[in-house]
This record gives sequence, C-alpha cells and structure tokens, in this order.
Amino acid sequence: MIKTILVTGGAGFLGSHLCERLLEQGNEVICVDNCFTGNKENIYHLNTHPRFEFFRHDITFPLYVEVDEIYNLACPASPIHYQLDPVQTTKTSVTGVINMLGLAKRVKSKILHASTSEVYGDPEMHPQPESYWGNVNPIGPRSCYDEGKRCAEALCFDYLRQHGVNIKIPRIFNTYGPRMHINDGRVVSNFIVQALRGDAITIYGAGSQTRSFCYVDDMIDAFVRLMNTSDEFSGPINLGNPNEFTILELAEKVVELTNSKSELVFRDLPEDDPKQRKPDITLAAKVLEWSPQIPLEEGLVKTIDYFDNYLKRAGSDA
Ligand code: NAD
Ligand code: UDP
Repeated sequence: MIKTILVTGGAGFLGSHLCERLLEQGNEVICVDNCFTGNKENIYHLNTHPRFEFFRHDITFPLYVEVDEIYNLACPASPIHYQLDPVQTTKTSVTGVINMLGLAKRVKSKILHASTSEVYGDPEMHPQPESYWGNVNPIGPRSCYDEGKRCAEALCFDYLRQHGVNIKIPRIFNTYGPRMHINDGRVVSNFIVQALRGDAITIYGAGSQTRSFCYVDDMIDAFVRLMNTSDEFSGPINLGNPNEFTILELAEKVVELTNSKSELVFRDLPEDDPKQRKPDITLAAKVLEWSPQIPLEEGLVKTIDYFDNYLKRAGSDA
C-alpha cells in the first residue's frame, strides 16, 4: 500500500536522507521545512520526483495535510544553530510539536518525533539506558534544546494518554554523514572541513570527552523500523552507535584519513558540554532487531568524500 508521509525538517541533514529512503520504498512524501538550517540543495535531486512535494512552512504555525505517517524532524540540531535563536528553538520543540501532535490526532496518523540523547544532559550514568532520567541544566545555554526536547517527549506521552495518538520516540545519539551543514559547528563536519582545508583542528577542552557516532544510513534504517513497530510500542528508544571515542581520537582519525597536515589546537570547552555519551541500545536490538552496521572509519571516508566534493564545487569561498 502506498502511504502518504509527512517529513518535517525534510530539507535538513537527516530529513533529506529520510525523504530519499521513503521515496525508494514507493511512498508519497510531503516535505516541509522553513529552511532555517536546512538547505534546499539537499533535496534538489528529489524535486522532479513524481511522488515528492516540498513546501516552505514553519511548524510553529498550524498545518493541515492528510497523511498516514508523520516524521517530525524539524528543529535545529547543532549547538551553534539552536543557540542562535533559543526562543525559536523552544517554540519549535513545544508549539511546533503541539501542532504536529494535533495534526496526528486529527488525521489519525502515526507520528515519530525526533528526540535526542541531550535529554540525558551531562549524564552521570554510563552508558545511558532509556530508564535514566538525565542530568540537565534547566537554565544554561543548551537548555532551549535539552528542555525543549524533554517537554516535547512529555507532550507526546500526554497525547498518547489523553488522546490515544500513536507516537514513536527515538532518542537520537550523535549522527553524521553527507549533507551535514558545512557551518553548523558539529564535531564531525568541523574536523573534516578543517582537515580538508589544512586549517587547525579545533579541539574543545583536552579532547577527553567522549561521543559515539552513528552513520546516517544506519539511523534512517532505524527510523523506518521504529515507525513500523506495533501500535503498542512507543519508546522512548535509544538509537545510536555504541562504539565510543574521545574527541581527540576522532581528530586523529580524521587527520589520518584525509592525509592532512592540519595541526591540532585546543580551545575552551563550551559551557555544559557533556563529558561522555554512549547509548545503551539493548532495547533497539530487541524491538527493532537493529544495530549499526557501518563502522566509524567507513562512514568517515564517505563523509570526507562528500565534503571534498562540496568544497571543490563551492570553490575557496565555501
Ligand atoms: P538539521 O539542522 O540538518 O535539520 C533540521 C531541519 O529542521 C532543517 O532543515 C531546518 O531548516 C528545519 N527546521 C528547523 N526549525 C523548523 C521549524 N520551526 N519549522 C520547519 N522546519 C524547521 O538537523 P538534523 O541533524 O537533520 O536533525 C534532525 C532532527 O533530529 C532534529 O529534530 C534534531 O533535534 C534531531 N537529532 C539529530 C541528531 C544528529 O546527530 N544529527 C542527534 C539528536 C537529535
Ligand atoms: N567539539 C570540538 N571541536 C569542534 C566541535 C565540537 O572539540 O570543533 C566537541 C564538543 O565540545 C563536544 C563534541 O565535540 O564535546 C561533540 O560536539 P557536537 O557539537 O558535534 O555535538 P554535541 O554532542 O555536543 O551535541
């Protein structure tokens, strides 16, 4: 059966890959995005597809479309971007999510809402299972995103309990790959672009903080599996790659794979930067029969290739 699927944030990094995957599966895809951090270039190649439709829309305003499923990905995701206009970030996570849940209720569709490992804050439990309630600063520079996403999860569960809306909540851990925004400041894109340009690689703090990096194709696979779980399963469910690296290790790996002469430089650690992060994916392995297949090195090579082509296309002004 052909489904009509709404993807919000569909011109962004994860959203554009998801639109592609859903089209490949034969679905009709309606992609909405306000193009705040997303780039229409990410979806140019889909614009002529007969089952693809894009329109510019900000989810903090109501939307009515008849759909079978909603993937609500709209929200700036990198610390630089979500801190540019923190009030709008919270509005997107609260008013925007209420609008999307209201739509799901009205048209009786399923809704997958993209949550995040940031709901665990600077975690005191390691690795993080879904049962951990987190360690989040409610008034810091990351709070617009962390608390916004926490409120969004609460809203999803209230729509489930109060209105019976079929919700699915992935808690997404650091994901990387082609079409990350070149200037969004996230560590993988920053390091690769710096290495390719021969600029200094900026390590914040001593680089001893850890992250666990999942390649985009693995994440998209998990999204689709999660949407297809039984109505009784809502999550929250951790999605990410449990292989953990220090930021220094990542920098060294990127320098090695790009054959770069860039030096490593150390800068101040941003406020509230989590010291460690690694998903416990036991639940995903059981419920989705899923685990990431693409090792860091393989994913980095594909991402380096993307940025290398991007920089060549854009010339030295990129
Ligand atoms: P991204 O910035 O590339 O994509 C987000 C998209 O949402 C952009 O295209 C942006 O223009 C759009 N957007 C923002 N506010 C909007 C609004 N009010 N209305 C309509 N569109 C809006 O980021 P991404 O990495 O693709 O992240 C997608 C989702 O996944 C986000 O909700 C993010 O919080 C979540 N997530 C991502 C990661 C990751 O590592 N990539 C980790 C955890 C959670
Ligand atoms: N980081 C870094 N150099 C950079 C960008 C990021 O050392 O140029 C560090 C950052 O301080 C954090 C980690 O890399 O500890 C991951 O940062 P990112 O912004 O990608 O995502 P986060 O997991 O913090 O949301």
